[in-house]
Amino acid sequence: MRKIELNKRQEQILQIVKENGPITGEHIADRLNLTRATLRPDLAILTMAGFLDARPRVGYFYTGKTGTQLLTENLKKKKICVKDYQSIPVVVNESVSVYDAICTMFLEDVGTLFVVDGTGILVGVLSRKDLLRASIGNQELTTLPVNIIMTRMPNIAMCQKEDPLIEVADRLIEKQIDAMPVVKETSKGYEVIGRITKTNITKAFVALANDD
Ligand code: ADP
Repeated sequence: MRKIELNKRQEQILQIVKENGPITGEHIADRLNLTRATLRPDLAILTMAGFLDARPRVGYFYTGKTGTQLLTENLKKKKICVKDYQSIPVVVNESVSVYDAICTMFLEDVGTLFVVDGTGILVGVLSRKDLLRASIGNQELTTLPVNIIMTRMPNIAMCQKEDPLIEVADRLIEKQIDAMPVVKETSKGYEVIGRITKTNITKAFVALANDD
């Protein structure tokens, strides 16, 4: 779930319920000179987002929760998912040289590359230090293929787009890695569809703090 932005009418509804709740949808509509039907989508959003609660035969009342409280709750209840914060993955073929992988890392401005085979299936991961380690040896970097030095399957920590972001953050810390590929399972293996890094997690963290 992303930062909750309320429109002007939703802010008005919130104010009315704060001051007059519990209040029925009918009465809120009367105060705004609108029909109940017009208000329905706004009331649904405010209720789903947790700002308002509705009780049958009583009406709407204000939950008293701020945007930050609601976002934190959503994070804990695991409603914030990988797909809300993932970035575009940068992949290289397993046959490219370490030299070319280093160039790609600089050009694409990422810290982790995902390695795929000829059919686009995930076979490895390359971190900055994997490439540095290979570079300080006396190796010919233009002819050394990345599949010699990469971390390979089945040792790759992966996630899926519906996974809760908090669980992915936990695994990044536990495994002491900077990034994870977001994958989709196919009959041939795992296809890389995204990338979650510590930067994405930091962005989520900042979004939580800024939202009030
Ligand atoms: P760096 O090595 O630059 O500090 P990381 O901490 O991400 O970056 O990587 C540490 C090691 O873990 C590297 O050898 C890398 O290949 C490996 N690694 C990185 N990401 C993953 C992952 N998602 N799954 C398994 N191994 C990984």
